[in-house]
Amino acid sequence: MKKISRRKFVKDAAQVAALAVVAPAILQAKSMPALQFSQVALPYAYNALEPHIDALTMEIHYTKHHAGYVKNVNAAITEEKISYDTEKDFFANISKLSAKAHNNAGGAWNHNFFWQVMKPKGGHMPSGKIAEAINGAFGSFEKFKEEFTKAAMSRFGSGWAWLVNDNGKLKIGSTANQDNPLMDTSEFKGTPLLALDVWEHAYYLKYQNKRNEYVANWWSIINWDEAAKRLV
Ligand code: MN
Repeated sequence: MKKISRRKFVKDAAQVAALAVVAPAILQAKSMPALQFSQVALPYAYNALEPHIDALTMEIHYTKHHAGYVKNVNAAITEEKISYDTEKDFFANISKLSAKAHNNAGGAWNHNFFWQVMKPKGGHMPSGKIAEAINGAFGSFEKFKEEFTKAAMSRFGSGWAWLVNDNGKLKIGSTANQDNPLMDTSEFKGTPLLALDVWEHAYYLKYQNKRNEYVANWWSIINWDEAAKRLV
């Protein structure tokens, strides 16, 4: 092993310490935010979830609403020099951020998640570990469906219904606006396994005021494999 003098060691250590202080300042000076949100590619065509979700709703939802949230959260990140490295950290500190960052980060993340947990010709009964977890937590699949539907229907105004894993326990709940269970401000917390967008923009063209029909049809397009993947 190469021997280094104490004097050289102290000098090197001081340089490393100085770099550690300087590096974030350089990043800040160049306005390089650590994390930007991106819009995931839709994993199917706009008309793929018909007749349950119509193509025009899907196209507007993805290209206008979702794209807008992604654009606006990234603008907020730059304007406010927000520097969290991960989405998890971002949401865990959301109480410290502006309404613009908060609402649009939720909108960006929630829709990326929502597209993944749906698929054409989905909706078969869950099987394996997630089916066992659902039966364990809610008694039966039917009871689970009933409780989830209630959460989706009783959310007043705009928001989301969720199935989450909260430290090994599955729970159903809902959040207002674009809030999600990863946010430190949310009363309902956990790792999302399923989400249902109950904003009117998600169903109004086809279903108008009939949120109940939209929710009932959504069970035919759930991607249970994606939900199961998240149960770890
Ligand atoms: Mn939406």
